[in-house]
Amino acid sequence: MDCIFCKIIEGHIPAEKVYEDDFFIAILDINPVNKGHLLVLPKKHSENIFDLDEPELSQVMVVIKKLSKILMDTLNAEGINIIQNNCKAAGQIIFHSHFHIIPRYTGDGIKIGTVHGKYNEGEIKDFANRIREGIRK
Ligand code: AMP
Ligand code: ZN
Repeated sequence: MDCIFCKIIEGHIPAEKVYEDDFFIAILDINPVNKGHLLVLPKKHSENIFDLDEPELSQVMVVIKKLSKILMDTLNAEGINIIQNNCKAAGQIIFHSHFHIIPRYTGDGIKIGTVHGKYNEGEIKDFANRIREGIRK
């Protein structure tokens, strides 16, 4: 399989690995949003969140929390964004599931998820009903 993150996990491509346990590694993103930007990669290949099983999903959040705290302490980050892109339409470019941990600073000028729109009259209820129906199924 031609997966760059699998190659990093297997040690065939270099990366700045900062964390490893039985199930995950964390590396520095080579094109950081802010310096210290980490990527947490499950060692087992999966394309996106829909392929991760429940234990992996709960374990990854524990790792993310631990590493987020370390970025706060070691880089004096004042905040953290946790981002995970699924599928091309959502901006995913590497199709091996991964989680971004981005250190943030007051006034750093980075805009993540800040372009919010508006619903037309009655539309919010329609969306809520469609999602509730999906949850009931
Ligand atoms: P995305 O698939 O959009 O969630 O993001 C993929 C991320 O992987 C981007 O932020 C890239 O900068 C990062 N990236 C791509 N190749 C490498 C690499 N060889 N080492 C570290 N980070 C990488
Ligand atoms: Zn992979």
